[in-house]
Amino acid sequence: MVPREPFVLDVRRLGRRAGTMTEVHRTLVSPERLGVEMVGIPAGSDVDLDLRLESVSEGVLVTGTVSGETAGQCSRCLDPVDGTVTVFLTELFAYPDSATEQTTDSDEVHRIVDEKLDLEQSIIDAVSLELPMSPLCTTDCPGLCQVCGVRLAAAEPGHGHDIIDPRWAGLADKFATLDETPPADGPDGREPA
Ligand SMILES: [Zn+2]
Ligand SMILES: [Zn+2]
Repeated sequence: MVPREPFVLDVRRLGRRAGTMTEVHRTLVSPERLGVEMVGIPAGSDVDLDLRLESVSEGVLVTGTVSGETAGQCSRCLDPVDGTVTVFLTELFAYPDSATEQTTDSDEVHRIVDEKLDLEQSIIDAVSLELPMSPLCTTDCPGLCQVCGVRLAAAEPGHGHDIIDPRWAGLADKFATLDETPPADGPDGREPA
């Protein structure tokens, strides 16, 4: 069964003696999509936690990695782009009644509540920062043809369209019978192959 709050860790076992530590190696199922608009870890996917929880004087310091497989779309050609993302977390969760808790806001430093810490926001933030806003299927993806929308990577070399300015269209019709050859230079300025 999927826990309702899979990113919540119980730290009761750790105790409050500074220097005590424990490790968390766990694969959980994300109840929500983690990522940015064009790419993310889909809801229902596995997320691997490899974390060290260390009791320090002010709270519990969480360090380690969070990783998962991502699904997205190339921002140029909209082809599916799969990958993985790994983020490094370093996050302090303040003990109740600690000086840190008294002197900071909860949106600056996370809190331990009922001997639990909730990694969800830290993971959402870290994954969103790590993933590219404009993912690409290949670094030199040529994208889509501006005119017909075909994927240029799959189109024939030198794909282009001879576009006649509507103001000249009538004239071109007249000359069409005289000269069937289209202009030598394509409208996209490409070098001839
Ligand atoms: Zn692409
Ligand atoms: Zn085209």
